[in-house]
Amino acid sequence: MNVADTEVVLSIMDGVGYTMTDKADQADLIFVNTCSVRDNAELRVKQRLSELKMHKRNNPDVLIGVLGCMAERLRTELMDKNNVVDMVVGPDEYRKLPKLVEDAYAGQRGIAVKLSRVENYDDITPLRTEGISAWISVMRGCDKFCTFCVVPFTRGRERSRSLKSVVEEVRKLSERGFKEVTLLGQNVNSYHDGENDFADLLRCVAEVDSTMRVRYMTSHPQDMSGKLIETMAAHDNICKYIHLPVQSGSNRILKLMNRTYTIEHYLTLMEEIKYAMPGVSFSTDIIAGFPTETDDDHRLTLEVLKNVRYDGAYMFKYSPRENTKAWDMGDDVAEEKKVERLSEIINIQGEISAEINQLLIGQEVEVLIERDSSRSADDLLGRTDTNKKTLFPREDARVGEYRKVKIERTNAQTLFGKLVCGASFGSSVN
Ligand code: SAH
Ligand code: SF4
Repeated sequence: MNVADTEVVLSIMDGVGYTMTDKADQADLIFVNTCSVRDNAELRVKQRLSELKMHKRNNPDVLIGVLGCMAERLRTELMDKNNVVDMVVGPDEYRKLPKLVEDAYAGQRGIAVKLSRVENYDDITPLRTEGISAWISVMRGCDKFCTFCVVPFTRGRERSRSLKSVVEEVRKLSERGFKEVTLLGQNVNSYHDGENDFADLLRCVAEVDSTMRVRYMTSHPQDMSGKLIETMAAHDNICKYIHLPVQSGSNRILKLMNRTYTIEHYLTLMEEIKYAMPGVSFSTDIIAGFPTETDDDHRLTLEVLKNVRYDGAYMFKYSPRENTKAWDMGDDVAEEKKVERLSEIINIQGEISAEINQLLIGQEVEVLIERDSSRSADDLLGRTDTNKKTLFPREDARVGEYRKVKIERTNAQTLFGKLVCGASFGSSVN
């Protein structure tokens, strides 16, 4: 989501004549786009700001801005504690950046952190670097108020873009040669533009270009409708991969988290999805050590992992966030316990992911080729419909093509194989 937001910022700054550089010593202006979801994300930004302090000492004319959720959450604290910062700008205030930059050049530091109730970037075309895969924010904010989560406070109320503007953006991306779009929202299942729900949006996006893959994230298990499942099943170019965060296997903890579903509801939903789309792959998010979590609660989470057998998971230690309801519950699971539980979760999930991937050895999978491999200039990186990274020697293949790869070995994260000769699909996703 921050990548997508940064592309909005780049577009706004492009409008007043700025271009991007990836070399700090060439920059007149440095923006740090931030995340507040867990404490260690914030710590990394604080570390970056102290590095920038040194940079500014040697380059006093450079302007530095903190953007995003930390700007929203810490506001004046960032200005006060850190005289390196010239402007602090929350996620809904990026239109003010040109003015804030102008003011900063005139010696006036600025803060803009008002959250919006309406979608406010609908008419801005994000400035994307060339590639084949694009993120598209279709909604902003979140009204769920899970008790551990800072997002409703830093990103504000839920609001959706119009279906028309999203579809238009996808059409332009298709014309530019993009091959994949990922529709983004904190809870895309609540998307509604007044007339259309998320299933309508997904169908219209999928129908723009049948050779373009469509993904989305994230789904809240409470709001995943039968209509959405049918829409996914009905379109070959909607990827059969769902990120469905469960957070915990214990109903008691789910209730304290205000996740508004039970584990039974969640598991039944998964069965319905698998019935409609055999071969669908799932990933999830897990939090270890939520307030009052006991060994029994933790065991229930492990049971869910073992029974569901997710293809992958993002696993986190609970991190208390100020202003959230869970903050008031205390942070009573000892740090060592959290670490122990998290590493148990990571180990079990790692084994499961490795076992699932191993079953693909000897099989042919279709991948969309995304880019050169970062490990070797001789290899390309593609991704299966089910979101598995696949590395293979490039031979005659090119970025943007759909190709078949025969899998030779695997680990928990990646598939390795060889192109199946002569099986170029060019523009097909079938
Ligand atoms: N909107 C998405 C998630 C956004 S945050 C959803 O509901 O799924 C991404 C993930 O970060 C969450 O799913 C959760 O697992 C994790 N997370 C959020 N707040 C956290 C906290 N305070 N401590 C630890 N993990 C947290
Ligand atoms: Fe946070 Fe819950 Fe909203 Fe996800 S659904 S962003 S976890 S409040």
